[in-house]
This record gives sequence, structure tokens and C-alpha cells, in this order.
Amino acid sequence: MMPDSDRSRREEPLVLWDEIDTVLVDMDGTLLDLAFDNFFWLELVPQHYAARHRLAEADAKAVLQRAYRALEGRLAWYCIDHWTDTLDLDLRALKWAHRERIRYLPGATEFLAAVRARGKQLTLVTNAHRAVLAVKTDHTGLDREVDELVSSHDFDAPKESAEFWQRFSEQGRFDPRRTLLVEDSLSVLTAARAFGLEFTLAIRRPDSSQPARDITEFPSVDGVHALAD
Ligand SMILES: [Mg+2]
Repeated sequence: MMPDSDRSRREEPLVLWDEIDTVLVDMDGTLLDLAFDNFFWLELVPQHYAARHRLAEADAKAVLQRAYRALEGRLAWYCIDHWTDTLDLDLRALKWAHRERIRYLPGATEFLAAVRARGKQLTLVTNAHRAVLAVKTDHTGLDREVDELVSSHDFDAPKESAEFWQRFSEQGRFDPRRTLLVEDSLSVLTAARAFGLEFTLAIRRPDSSQPARDITEFPSVDGVHALAD
């Protein structure tokens, strides 16, 4: 049913399940299609920003690109309240209005079920703000497919930072030597590895409307469907 090409390239199994007790899984671009977020931030927000501030759409896009870039990788980037204030737009309402476009990536629910069937602790770890997480779980039922939901906002540090991994691990809910992180952000994977997380797996195709990326720094799969058995 699912393509097996990811596996056939390697002799070793993709995941050493016997050595793993906990799976930390990212949400946007790993379980849910990043096409929604790209549409939201790169198309919809500029349209509304242009209308609100009487700008041409191309100008609005340029202003927003600069604003986004300035905060990339920082917690405020992921804070819907920050953008609501900065852009003077009701982004919560806008997310809610367009929630029909929020979708799982192929094989995502099968992957989650397979991890649970293996008896692993399954924790969703996201940079998404709790308010956005609520829209996404409400629409997809994702909260019922995992054991636990963790937002980096609860630790006041983004997943890209050493502080996040330090604070999260201090709760003692996982053993870094027996934990796998499945994630599409290379900066998050880099931070997790630097912290001492033993197993990492990168997603090559976080947005179904875009081609797969080449990733050399981490073991990788096109998508979690490759691990859905
Ligand atoms: Mg992601």
C-alpha cells in the first residue's frame, strides 16, 4: 500500500525499534501537511494584511517576508498572539475559518497507530502555540492518536534551542538515549542531536505540494508513511 523505496535503499532497518522506548513526533510538516501553513502564512495572511493596510499584495508579501525572516527560529515566530498584535489581524479567526484545509500527510495516522502498537510512549512535540494546536487537534482528532501533547511555549523556548531540550528533559519523561525524534525541521533535529538525543529521523517532504528535499545530515524518509508498518 505504502511505497517501500525508502527502505530498499538501506540495508539497516530505518528505525532500531528495540532500542527505542519513546517517540517524539513533530506536528506541522511531519504529521500534518505543511501545505496548510504555507498557504496560511504565504498567501492568506498577505492578502488580509494588504486589505487591512491598503497595500498592494506584492508589497504586503515583501513586508511580511522581512518580518518573518527577522523572527525565524525564535519562539515569537510561532506565537499567534505576537502576529495578531504586530499585523493587526485576527489570526485565530482566520485559522478557524480555513481549518478545512488542515490535513494529515499520507500514512500519518497509520504511522501513529503502528508506533502505539509497538508499545512505545508517543509524544507530540510542537512549536505551535496552544491556541493553534487546539484548532488543529479539533479538526483532525490528532490529540487522540498520541499519548501526550507538548508545546514548546510551555517551556518558553523553541525546539530549535538548547534551553528547550534541557527544560523538557528535566521533567524526566524520556530517556534521551532511548528516544527517537521524527521531525521536518533540520534546525530542530540539530538542536536535539546536540542535546544528546540518540535517534533522529528527518522528513524530506513536509509539504505535499512541493517536491522532496535532499537531506544528508540526518537519516531521512520522504514521509512517516515509510514507518507505518
Ligand atoms: Mg515541523
